[in-house]
Amino acid sequence: MTNTPPVIVWFRQDLRLGDNPALSAAAKTGSPVLPVYIWDTDAAGEWAMGGAARVWLHGSLQALDAQLASVSSKLLLQAGKTAEILLQLAQDTGARQIHCNARYEPWALSQEQQVKSVLAEAGVTLSRHTGGTLLWEPESVATQQGKPYQVFTPYFNRCLSLLPEIHPLPAPVQLIAPAQWPDALTVEALRLLPTIPWDAEMRALWKPGEVAAMQRVQTFLQEAVAGYPQARDIPSQRGTSRFSPHLAHGEISPRQIWQAVEVFSSGTSGSSVKSATATFLREIVWREFAYHVLFHFPHTTNQPLKEKFRHLPWAENADWLKRWGQGQTGYPLVDAGMRQLWRTGWMHNRVRMVVGSFLTKDLLIPWQDGARWFWDTLVDADLAINSMNWQWVAGCGADAQPFFRIFNPVSQSEKFDPAGAYIRQWVPELAPIESSTIHAPWQAKPLHLQLAGMQLGETYPHPIVDHAEARSKALMLYKQIGESSSPTAG
Ligand SMILES: Cc1cc2nc3c(=O)[nH]c(=O)nc-3n(C[C@H](O)[C@H](O)[C@H](O)COP(=O)(O)OP(=O)(O)OC[C@H]3O[C@@H](n4cnc5c(N)ncnc54)[C@H](O)[C@@H]3O)c2cc1C
Repeated sequence: MTNTPPVIVWFRQDLRLGDNPALSAAAKTGSPVLPVYIWDTDAAGEWAMGGAARVWLHGSLQALDAQLASVSSKLLLQAGKTAEILLQLAQDTGARQIHCNARYEPWALSQEQQVKSVLAEAGVTLSRHTGGTLLWEPESVATQQGKPYQVFTPYFNRCLSLLPEIHPLPAPVQLIAPAQWPDALTVEALRLLPTIPWDAEMRALWKPGEVAAMQRVQTFLQEAVAGYPQARDIPSQRGTSRFSPHLAHGEISPRQIWQAVEVFSSGTSGSSVKSATATFLREIVWREFAYHVLFHFPHTTNQPLKEKFRHLPWAENADWLKRWGQGQTGYPLVDAGMRQLWRTGWMHNRVRMVVGSFLTKDLLIPWQDGARWFWDTLVDADLAINSMNWQWVAGCGADAQPFFRIFNPVSQSEKFDPAGAYIRQWVPELAPIESSTIHAPWQAKPLHLQLAGMQLGETYPHPIVDHAEARSKALMLYKQIGESSSPTAG
């Protein structure tokens, strides 16, 4: 304890001690450190954190507090308007410096400006640190014409040519506590958990926090990365890292992941492992690309990057949207994905693409409606990644798949879930059906359905639309907005 005024660390999307530039800078001053998290529900406007991400945040804040306790500190929780609270804390404690890590969402950038100017008027400095959130700052990667990239492969190549030295910062071993801790809220008082406990299965499945994130890295490297290129597309397998919710809440940094993967890769002589780790790291660069696009084209959270897609006559069909959300479309792979999402807060990437294509092309429902549903139900909801991927799926964004490439929900199911293991797990009413018909139960012989205890339209819905007809309709509308390419099946 000391009477020296503290330096404040404003935690945002960086809920960790390791590789945290803002925290390290504050610790380095030698002054007491006051770690603060502010639950500011107004700041993000329409992009206020969704329900599933709030459940995750509850656990993540508890975990961060425990981590801080291990270095003789704690997390001061507050709720309200960020600028006002930081100013008040500075005035109450005599702090003159506040450190934070960069965020890149449009609302977060304007929040930062506002906080900075409010603090500056009172003579308090806000220092913003980069390096902890992204490997490449969005402004630092540009085409030869000095423009932002809109296509992934050249962006990826440019990034690799600019690969920074990867030296994650160590977590501070000790923090000096302020002489007095200001009053704080408990995490329960933030009311992040739902009043109706729909989150029990989700909470049992996941372990938020920095320690769990680091353990997940080790498990993934030891058990799965070598098979990643093949297994990543099979939704019934645990073939992907599941780092996404940890990254979305900043419990781990891309620099920490990159280093861990490189150390693992250099310790092995197998060329297939090296190639698998390279395939995996490419996905980390996709994340960077999403932030690059969001930063340079901030309107893409709500509007298509490709202007002409504004004029596509999307359907308004609340009933279809609801059935899609509830996993009641009659297309087993789509329904399995939507139910996995609802129950666990996560969905396999391959299935995210299929359900996204189904919503935007088979049902012609605007991608923005799908993005909002994901926003509320994903534990890894991330504005940059979600917006870019929904536009990719809908065919209207940066590096989008062409609109005419329409995923066939049945052949995707046959290809990536051939034995129906994923479908059986998430749509149990289909479990007794044979593998040959589980992908399209309406094609099964009535007797087979009967023997499996199923009646279409009662125990499981008829398909909401006919895929072939829906596809033709989508292609016709697409022609109307004047894209000149010939259709292919996905
Ligand atoms: C319609 C749609 C919406 C999506 N919304 C989100 C979202 O809100 N938040 C989110 O984190 N991911 C989103 N994704 C991307 C992807 O599905 C998830 O990142 C991935 O499934 C997370 O699982 P994982 O960590 O096991 O992935 P891995 O395959 O192990 O990949 C490792 C990491 O790479 C990054 N990554 C992987 N795929 C992508 C991608 N397509 N775009 C950008 N980064 C990627 C993620 O940070 C991921 O954690 C979306 C994809 C689609 C098709």
